[in-house]
Amino acid sequence: MHTDSLDKQTKTRLNKLQKRLRREVGQAIEAFNMIEEGDKVMVCLSGGKDSYTMLDILLNLQKSAPIRFELVAVNLDQKQPGFPEEVLPAYLDSLGVPYHIVERDTYSIVKEVVPEGKTTCGLCSRLRRGTLYGFADEIGANKIALGHHRDDILETFFLNMFYGGKLKSMPPKLVSDDGKNMVIRPLAYAREKDISAYAELRQFPIIPCNLCGSQENLQRQVIKEMLQGWDKSHPGRIETMFRALCNVVPSHLADNELFDFKGLQLGFPHGIVPGSQTAPGPLGEDEDTGANGSGVQVMEKIDILSV
Ligand code: SF4
Repeated sequence: MHTDSLDKQTKTRLNKLQKRLRREVGQAIEAFNMIEEGDKVMVCLSGGKDSYTMLDILLNLQKSAPIRFELVAVNLDQKQPGFPEEVLPAYLDSLGVPYHIVERDTYSIVKEVVPEGKTTCGLCSRLRRGTLYGFADEIGANKIALGHHRDDILETFFLNMFYGGKLKSMPPKLVSDDGKNMVIRPLAYAREKDISAYAELRQFPIIPCNLCGSQENLQRQVIKEMLQGWDKSHPGRIETMFRALCNVVPSHLADNELFDFKGLQLGFPHGIVPGSQTAPGPLGEDEDTGANGSGVQVMEKIDILSV
């Protein structure tokens, strides 16, 4: 999009948003060592606001980064009816970024396997992930960038806690189950409302995900509304909760696998580091509720919810 046509106020807003997103993406990349010299990063582009923003900001950072890395945009055409095939190639050509469009009819598989009326997103996402991971190997990409942002991470955290009885979310960086792919989430620190505003101002040619007719996961929708409600009634709570995800104290939770409660000894309130005689971290007081008094209690541990 040409920014020349924007009025002064809109340009200022766009610049401000871009600066903030650049800063947050840069901080996440650094904090988790997401991108290193010589990396080939496959940027997964769905046609939604998040992935367009991720590609845009990564391209922007690439220009001024002190290290050299490659970016390759990849879209998976899942053969949904009505998918506008020409939109992404036209956009990517205009940017001059290397890209691939991978065609795989996961739509037919999903329709065949999932009973009528059930949500298809779970299987659809798994098939998409599998195809994209395989493609990363084919093109020699050692990193796969996904466009999940801070709000996705928090929603997933609450989904897993409320419906799965597990403290677990989407990590900013992870190795895939087969150990072959490194997945990164450069938007991990970015807010969804900034991304939405940025995508609108940049007029990215958005392709809706639900062309297939499936409804968004209802449970996720409920969590999203809960978080948005909190954001309105208690400004700052979202930020605090995300900070909490980055500031976990295993000795003050109740997971025996994460912290050796059984082996706890006097003089070492934070436990013994396996293989050493030293206690990790400073001594802590019991039941620290933090600055705003919000403590977390894990009451039960049941099955994992896969999201
Ligand atoms: S809305 Fe449709 S295309 Fe998008 S994840 Fe769900 S099933 Fe897949």
